[in-house]
Amino acid sequence: MHDPMLSVENLVTHFPARASEAGRGKAVIRAVDNISFSVSAGETYALVGESGCGKSTTARSVLRLIEPTAGSVRFRGTEVTACTGRALRALRRDMQMVFQDPYSSLNPRMTVAQIVAEPLIVHRMASRSEARDRAVKLLDRCGLDRRYADRYPHAFSGGQRQRVVIARALATSPKLVVADEPVSALDVSIQSQIMNLLCDLQEEFGLAYVLISHDLAVVRHMADRIGVMYLGKLVEQAPVDEFYRNPKHPYSRALLSAIPKHRPGDASARIVLTGEVPSPTNPPAGCPFHTRCPHVMPRCHTEGPKTSTNAAGHSVACHLFDEDSNDS
Ligand code: SF4
Repeated sequence: MHDPMLSVENLVTHFPARASEAGRGKAVIRAVDNISFSVSAGETYALVGESGCGKSTTARSVLRLIEPTAGSVRFRGTEVTACTGRALRALRRDMQMVFQDPYSSLNPRMTVAQIVAEPLIVHRMASRSEARDRAVKLLDRCGLDRRYADRYPHAFSGGQRQRVVIARALATSPKLVVADEPVSALDVSIQSQIMNLLCDLQEEFGLAYVLISHDLAVVRHMADRIGVMYLGKLVEQAPVDEFYRNPKHPYSRALLSAIPKHRPGDASARIVLTGEVPSPTNPPAGCPFHTRCPHVMPRCHTEGPKTSTNAAGHSVACHLFDEDSNDS
């Protein structure tokens, strides 16, 4: 088996809490709390969960846009958390990000060709004229006719702007792209076009994707493997077909039950979770999901579940599956 392109081990990212959240003493927000996953070349790994579960912080920590508190992030054999200066800049050429909002992530004073060419100039990978040529080609490849290359972002629709964002992310020929909710700001009719574009580009360039999404329908379309986050922890990981066929964690089952069913007879009951998501400043003892879990048992209040993994690479952290455990 090949080494993964990206290997994240025991990643922790904590922030100091504001005074209003901290109460007395020095409280921290446990945004990402000891998670591990890996991504291979050509693979899409999706991180899912409700807003505030830590998936976007994980993505930014992997790219060092936020400093992780502890843990290891290895990219093609290099420890990202130890890189500084020139080495970190070199890594950033190979690890790019597509942001959620194509309206705020493009500079309104630059033409789209200038926007896509900019990373090549910043990283000194091309002269201005070479960078422009490549930008125009990339825009064309991403579905924006070269006649529009000298227009400004305001002239484009949301879907077209996201094509510009994707072209900019690809300018430096990265190996890994982290896409944070890449279609959630777009009309439903446009979403599948952008998802298909991302899938085509992945195949063409052999890209690895880390896909951040709250939308399990998007994830099913794009991902090879999935990790479910709750309160900063990964509670389940599985190949995507296996996950949708056989979700194990009660939280995953609740998320899946909320997807609208389109076929008559496909009427598995929706699981409605009660209670608020606890604060990551003060997560519950034991299993972090116990305050909302429909299957909670007495031990869940005090004892955190270990992660068990089966031969199919399906792992879950829940006491209901302790018997299956062959790994902790
Ligand atoms: Fe629910 Fe207990 Fe499993 Fe946590 S460990 S998900 S509370 S059954």
